[in-house]
Amino acid sequence: MRNLKFGLIGTGFMGNAHAIALRSVGTVFDDIAAPTLHCLVDADVANAAKLAKAWGFDQSSDDWRSVCDDPDIDVVDICTPNHLHREMALAAIAAGKHVYCEKPLALSSADAISIRDAAEVAGVRTATGFNYICNPLISKARAMIASGSIGDIYSFRGSYQEDYLADPATPFGWRLLRSQGGAGALADLGTHLINMAEYLLGPMAAVLGSLTTVHPQRRDSRTGDMRTVENEDIAQVLVRFDRGCSGTMEISRVATGKKCGLEFEIFGSEGSIAFDQERMNELRLFSNGGAQDERGYRTILAGPEHPDYAAFCPAPGHGLGINDLKVIEVRNLLQGISSGDHIYSDFANGCRVQEISDAIETSAQKYNWIDVSEDALQSLGKNE
Ligand code: NAD
Repeated sequence: MRNLKFGLIGTGFMGNAHAIALRSVGTVFDDIAAPTLHCLVDADVANAAKLAKAWGFDQSSDDWRSVCDDPDIDVVDICTPNHLHREMALAAIAAGKHVYCEKPLALSSADAISIRDAAEVAGVRTATGFNYICNPLISKARAMIASGSIGDIYSFRGSYQEDYLADPATPFGWRLLRSQGGAGALADLGTHLINMAEYLLGPMAAVLGSLTTVHPQRRDSRTGDMRTVENEDIAQVLVRFDRGCSGTMEISRVATGKKCGLEFEIFGSEGSIAFDQERMNELRLFSNGGAQDERGYRTILAGPEHPDYAAFCPAPGHGLGINDLKVIEVRNLLQGISSGDHIYSDFANGCRVQEISDAIETSAQKYNWIDVSEDALQSLGKNE
């Protein structure tokens, strides 16, 4: 494996997280060649220059096309607002770069399909930023479900709720515009939950959604004017999976008190599993068996027996954090580039999530179930 050169676009919340991961991955995983932080790009040129120095990049730019055009760069890493993903990803793919892009992959299924297909044709490797599935305890939960530890799966109850827009006085931002954010809570939070649900339980078969905007107007802090919120604050979804079980998903950006409430409970014939991202180093397990009066949930603490944990820490119960999940995500990308193995979540996964998210919106508008089986979505894609 050689040291791949990265061009990172965006210096906000995710740009920072990606930079930390790029700097750490070669130290945490000793079989990974540390990537070179070649160029940091941001529309704010002063910020790009200042942070390039602080984060250890060789150079900076305010022109994102420069990293696509630079023959030295192997991977273009996109951490900009949602509406920029398509143009940036397509330009990077056209230049033959591998592409790492934050979620959601695009604003619509049609855009996501065009990105996925371009990457496939170009033969470049891709990753979408669905970091929560990189948690060692999520790998453990997936393996337990696959091996039948909790038996036949009856149902899934998932939610991803935060409160960053619960206060009506929180000002207007790009996430509230269809042209920049796409959908609302669904695009921002729901895409993580959809990806998590399919990662654990396999493909969804059908969805029925309901969308609500609680605060239809917010003040623009620059102009002082009230502006119309163009997408939903809350999405509620009924879901059926190919494997036969059913479930619900509740997604909200106005859930007062919830900070990173990505939670699920999965109930099976032999037991159940529960997880809450706010307590990301704990997996709760209930197993049938033993005396009735001694049964109950027990808590499994993350530890070196769980995939990838030991690379960070030799001691159980000490815990990983969100930036560690990004380190694992970057490791998956680098390993996928060198081995050719499937990267979960690549752009095909990102595209599938986008298609399901769009189907939930359509279902809410039409008041009916939408078939999201892979066959149904493939034929829809061909008709677009
Ligand atoms: P942000 O607003 O904090 O940062 C966006 C950055 O992009 C800013 O530095 C901005 O200056 C820069 N930018 C905007 N237009 C640009 C252009 N034309 N050229 C170069 N730079 C430009 O946003 P964020 O919260 O970091 O979100 C970025 C992306 O990451 C979004 O798609 C979001 O959905 C995703 N995200 C993912 C997670 C996760 O858990 N995986 C968490 C937060 C955000």
